[in-house]
Amino acid sequence: MGESPELERTNLLGLSGSELKEFFLANAEPAFRASQLMKWVHQRGLADFSKMTDLSRSLRERLSAMAEIKAPEIVLEQASADGTLKWLLRLDDGNCIETVFIPEENRGTLCVSSQVGCALDCTFCSTARQGFNRNLSSAEIVGQLWLARSRLKDVKDSVRSISNVVFMGMGEPLLNYDAVVSAMSLMLDDLAYGLGKRRVTLSTSGVIPAMDRLKDALDVSLAVSLHAPNNPLRDRLVPLNKKYPLEQLLPACKRFVSSKSRKNSVTFEYVMIKDVNDHPEHARELVRLLRDIPSKINLIPFNPFPQTRFQRSDPGSIDRFREILIASGLHTITRKTRGEDIDAACGQLAGKVIDRSRRKERFDRLGERLR
Ligand code: SAH
Repeated sequence: MGESPELERTNLLGLSGSELKEFFLANAEPAFRASQLMKWVHQRGLADFSKMTDLSRSLRERLSAMAEIKAPEIVLEQASADGTLKWLLRLDDGNCIETVFIPEENRGTLCVSSQVGCALDCTFCSTARQGFNRNLSSAEIVGQLWLARSRLKDVKDSVRSISNVVFMGMGEPLLNYDAVVSAMSLMLDDLAYGLGKRRVTLSTSGVIPAMDRLKDALDVSLAVSLHAPNNPLRDRLVPLNKKYPLEQLLPACKRFVSSKSRKNSVTFEYVMIKDVNDHPEHARELVRLLRDIPSKINLIPFNPFPQTRFQRSDPGSIDRFREILIASGLHTITRKTRGEDIDAACGQLAGKVIDRSRRKERFDRLGERLR
């Protein structure tokens, strides 16, 4: 007794511009301190308040005592033969998540995680097998970008800057709405990362109420994991479909593209699984389904992981599928598989999840997925 517990310091890394203003106002400082701090932290990558020279010495000391800039810790960096980089990041509670950087000729895409594991149970995704622990905080989400930017500065061999961010790592971002929106607003903010609205993409399995909230909150691009052209098949692949079936999901996509300033389209992701959803009839059904929605389709060759019974579609089937969509006027590309040799491709991210859903245990016991 008698000893005062160590004061918990406020982590400012994940606060959006307006949250940071509130923080300074609550501490009897003018709101413009928020802009000064954001530039130091997000544009210059600084975590040490004492080096932020346009703040008074006394403010720097106060900040050091009561606040911190804290990102997850990099515990492993892996490089793929194709230049893709994957980081394993440890969080304060011992969980680990993964973040992937994908360099291309004219852009560099960072794929961030939004949750530790995933609470959804998509049958073709390895993150689902890990079970679920918790939502990431906004600091843990934006911290992935903050860390990746500073790491990429040290790698000298090519042009490696982050021009795009996609929420396609571990987790369902729309089930962690508040933290994801704070993190995205920093990504868009000119005082922080200043990424254009077309360059920040949220991918969802189709959490309809949150899609409707998002369209009024922030101007970002939306990708929807479709994977099947009808309810019975989608129920099997994306069980969330039982709650939000296609006849509700597609109108929600339409509402998203027709809202306010948005004239762009929705990207539909469609994983190509051999003999499951890759027949020409599925393609024709997809055409009928998407006919009147401004859309782009990304075909993703299925990426295998241990204990899955699914296989990747043959290149020929993928090409035939794509041709049918293109012939019907649907803008379609096949996503190039990247980082496969380091398990960094879509659906292969696993991290280290201290599972609370007992799903991992169930899978390990069964040895393979039974559905
Ligand atoms: N929960 C979000 C974002 C995470 S997954 C969502 O469902 O959209 C990002 C994309 O990778 C999704 O389209 C997902 O369906 C796809 N994906 C998952 N597992 C895959 C696998 N094994 N092979 C290829 N793509 C996969």
